[in-house]
Amino acid sequence: MTFRLFDAPEREPSQFVGFAGNRIDRQAEKRSDAAVPLALADPAARILLVRGGRSYLKLNGGGFDTYFAREEAEALGAGVAEAILLGVDEHGPVLAATAGVDPEQLPETIKAIDYRSVYTQGLLGPSEIGALAQAASLLAWHANHQFCGRCGHKTEIRAGGYKRHCPNCGAEHFPRTDPVAIMLTVTREKCLLGRGAHFAPGMYSALAGFIEPGETIEAAVRRETLEEAGIRLGRVVYHASQPWPFPYSLMIGCFGEALNQDIRRDEAELEDCRWFSRDEVLAALAKSHAGGVFVPPSGAIAHHLIRFWAENP
Ligand SMILES: [Zn+2]
Repeated sequence: MTFRLFDAPEREPSQFVGFAGNRIDRQAEKRSDAAVPLALADPAARILLVRGGRSYLKLNGGGFDTYFAREEAEALGAGVAEAILLGVDEHGPVLAATAGVDPEQLPETIKAIDYRSVYTQGLLGPSEIGALAQAASLLAWHANHQFCGRCGHKTEIRAGGYKRHCPNCGAEHFPRTDPVAIMLTVTREKCLLGRGAHFAPGMYSALAGFIEPGETIEAAVRRETLEEAGIRLGRVVYHASQPWPFPYSLMIGCFGEALNQDIRRDEAELEDCRWFSRDEVLAALAKSHAGGVFVPPSGAIAHHLIRFWAENP
């Protein structure tokens, strides 16, 4: 085994995926219970607003602005008392809150756009999309964890939004991140791609599945690949990760070495699953595949796994 750290690129592959460009200083060691009111008292405070899986964006010239001043957020029905503190950037504190006004009732100058479209259409810069991932994941966790998992009592926000406290039994609950393994199974000449029934016609991607409790990343990669495609894996290596706010996952991208090539597809999970030659994959990446096959967009970690294998024989 060789020590690979000092041979690795200075900008790791995770820096190039969608939702990964967050530059907010989270100041995790300074999250007091007064962190949110203190931040809101700062006139420079800006608030990111979401509701129902959509980001609220202000039209600003030809582009979009993702941050609202406190008064603007309150005018959109945001419950600032339930806001969470994302951290600080060069302009001041950055918070996030759930908007109260429905997307259908917004003024002309504000659009509510689903997270996936925000990143696939490149509507915001990398740092804003990264902040959106942090905000969306954390607010979704709060929405889904209002009651104590131990005693059932209503819980309260603490530590700027990084904790919920149960006043009845004293339990403390912390935000969760659900790890998902996404893996490209390869040989030196071919890679394995599959498609779910819900994919756009022609799109193929890497296989993926949740990592289970008590499982290593590598074991999950091997198990999921065997379950979904009947392919046994030898070596598994980590490549990159991606925050994935649907609702609070972390995609962990790996390559796996195929030990057999006879596919046994899980018909409930996959509508199709097959091997693709390097030339076919390069054509799919260039959107020039003769059969109309294409791969996920460049913000997706699957795209980066596929491209990295295809371009590095
Ligand atoms: Zn409790």
